[in-house]
Amino acid sequence: MPSIFTRILIGEIPGQFVFRDELWCAILDIRPVAAGHALLIPIHETQYVADLPAPVLASLGDRIARLTVAVKSVSGASAVNVVINDGSDAGQEVPHAHLHVIPRFPADGRKLAWPAAPYAEGELAAWAARLRSAWR
Ligand code: AMP
Repeated sequence: MPSIFTRILIGEIPGQFVFRDELWCAILDIRPVAAGHALLIPIHETQYVADLPAPVLASLGDRIARLTVAVKSVSGASAVNVVINDGSDAGQEVPHAHLHVIPRFPADGRKLAWPAAPYAEGELAAWAARLRSAWR
């Protein structure tokens, strides 16, 4: 069953498009954190960012940079959060990879506040070593 984003892309349900090209589109989020909250969505449907085809991944930097500029200039935001919920345990509700671009303003009270989980003695270097060995 196609995701809600694919259904928007094929015109089955409405969406407010910012742009659309051969690899990516951006639409406005219907439940915005702030006006102008946009979603950058690959045309290729896959749940996880890491599973996107190489040309899609290679073009991500260009599209996200351009979308952050557009969102900031239209909303007047002084900053944006770019957020990826990559998997349901990370809060992903729509299993079609996407990036949120959320306008932010001084003292807007929308700070992302995760509690810190400090490393035990010696664990910082051990985790860095584990991650280096997993790097592909
Ligand atoms: P996530 O939790 O990262 O999967 O976020 C999915 C986002 O998609 C949520 O912020 C929803 O508000 C948004 N969303 C769901 N349905 C639609 C829709 N039909 N049009 C635009 N945005 C949507």
